[in-house]
Amino acid sequence: MTKKEFIKRKQSWQKRTLTCAAIFMLFYSITGGGILLLGQSTAVNGSAHWVGNALLCALVLLILCSLPFALWMHQHLVRGFQLVCHGCGKSLVGAKTGKNVIATGTCSFCGERVFDNDPDV
Ligand SMILES: [Zn+2]
Repeated sequence: MTKKEFIKRKQSWQKRTLTCAAIFMLFYSITGGGILLLGQSTAVNGSAHWVGNALLCALVLLILCSLPFALWMHQHLVRGFQLVCHGCGKSLVGAKTGKNVIATGTCSFCGERVFDNDPDV
């Protein structure tokens, strides 16, 4: 991949990541808010104690699952846009990593050359 291709893929990856993050946040807001509202209504109505505990467990589970899901989504998108190092398989995008790859043309983790026959490097 050339440097221009990398930059283009990185921009497409960023757009897709923002879209997925927005959907992710919307889903978690609706689901988490729904659980909280349901828990509040069951507390007001004096429902069984186990219902409140079950809702609390669902909320904790939802929060605990969000990080692994976000990490899986990141890896899925990075692989989908072929933005992984051929040497070590790690992501070539990120806050510092992407800038470093563009500046040096090498992987931040293993030093493998990323761009092929690129006159711009
Ligand atoms: Zn590498």
